[in-house]
Amino acid sequence: MYDKNNVFAKMIRGEIPTNKVFENEHAMSFYDINPMFQTHVLVIPKGPYQNILDFSKNASTDEIIGFWDCFNKTTEKLGIDCEFNCVANAGANAPFIKQSVFHFHLHLVAGERKPAFHEQLAAEFK
Ligand code: AMP
Repeated sequence: MYDKNNVFAKMIRGEIPTNKVFENEHAMSFYDINPMFQTHVLVIPKGPYQNILDFSKNASTDEIIGFWDCFNKTTEKLGIDCEFNCVANAGANAPFIKQSVFHFHLHLVAGERKPAFHEQLAAEFK
């Protein structure tokens, strides 16, 4: 069940500070607080969706269009239209990297890896 007190829900409501890159009616993007790459941004829908599957199954057409519009504008604003990765972790026991915030988010990363990336991989695969 969706927890409306998760950290991203609080950011959407303006209850905690957010370093935004782009925002529209249905989605927003902001810098990750613990960047693992030179550029590390999260793109989220404003609606209450726990993970990527919840979003793709249950979001309205307007929300889905708004989310991808936010994604497109974010890459334009960051100037990363050619070389980047997108990752969506789903579930507390996801096999690659575990989801820790249960509000759907796409990690959009580009540029050089930071030490935090290697530390997280080491922790996940120890
Ligand atoms: P995940 O493991 O896919 O659920 O990733 C959650 C991401 O949210 C992590 O990369 C965190 O660093 C990031 N995060 C957690 N709290 C905040 C916050 N207040 N502002 C920005 N990013 C956050």
